[in-house]
Order: sequence, then C-alpha cells, then structure tokens
Amino acid sequence: MALLPILTAPDPRLKKKSLPVTAVDDDLRRLMDDMLETMYAAPGIGLAAPQVGVLKRVIVLDIDREDVKTGPLFMANPEIIEASEEDVSYEEGCLSVPEHYSDVVRPAKVRVRYLDRDGAGQEMACEGLLATCVQHEIDHLDGILFIDHISALKRNMILRKLLKARKEKERDAAEGKPESRASSKADEAAPAG
Ligand SMILES: [Zn+2]
Repeated sequence: MALLPILTAPDPRLKKKSLPVTAVDDDLRRLMDDMLETMYAAPGIGLAAPQVGVLKRVIVLDIDREDVKTGPLFMANPEIIEASEEDVSYEEGCLSVPEHYSDVVRPAKVRVRYLDRDGAGQEMACEGLLATCVQHEIDHLDGILFIDHISALKRNMILRKLLKARKEKERDAAEGKPESRASSKADEAAPAG
C-alpha cells in the first residue's frame, strides 16, 4: 500500500466529473486500499478518488464515533437512490480544504447503491454522520466541494486563504525553511472527508 498526495482547492482536478468504474479488478482494489491508508494517515473519515487526482467514481469511508462505527467501507459507482425530506445541518471539513469548516445542510438520511471491494452490488441505509459523509464524498465525484454549498462570499474568502497559505508554503520551501506545523486546533475540529 502507498500514501497518495491529496489535492487541495483550488485545483482544477477537484472540479471535474469522475467517470464510472467499469470493473472492480485488482488495480481498482489497490487504488481503494491506497486511498484508505491515505485517509487514515490524514486523518479523515472519507476520501474520494478525485482528491488523489484519479477521476474515477470511487470513495472510501470509515466512521468510528461513539454512535456510529462503520469499519472500512469501499464504494465504486456510489449513487444516492433515496433521500429523506428531512434535512440536517452538520459542520463539515474536507481534506482538500484544509483547516476550514462550515455548516452544510443536506438530507438527514439517504440510501446509497454501490459496488463493494469484491464488485458485488450493495445498498446501504445511511443516517447521522455516515449520511453526511457519503453525500460529501459522492459530491467530490461530481466536482462539488462542501464550500460549493455555502455562500459565495464565504467560499471566496476560504479559497483566497488557501491560495495565500499555499504561496507562503512554496515561498518557505524555496527559502529552505522547515514546514510549519499545522495548528493543533485541527485535532479538535470537525472530521474531514
Ligand atoms: Zn472532501
């Protein structure tokens, strides 16, 4: 297994629509395993293939909270086939939008259809954090980030800050400065996917 570099916004690859998987074969399983390892290392609770620059409809998740413990989930070609009328607001984070969090409103419950790591068709009823996370990851497959669900004003502010942080990092690297540690605040913040 290998750790894959995670793209951060603004990156044009994060805005592209990913293509359906034609077969769950050994190559795809390797991608799934690498994505899971990358997600655990980040750490995050979900990761979509476009976040590692692969435009395929593949997501991985593992939610380990007091109320929801899913274990590792691998989903190829996931699609929402039912969504509740009832909405819920949850503070979301994203490994591709580091250190920024915002409340996003989504359906509280969804049913998702997908192919598992063996290529078998599955359906899963999701609620709570799992419902939010699976919708967040499927959005990535359509080039949608959680900041696309918030006001343009707030989104543009976040994107400007990310660009500024990236430039500072590049400048520090050019000057040979060691990489600064991310703020410890991230440890307590909302889970990222
Ligand atoms: Zn994300």
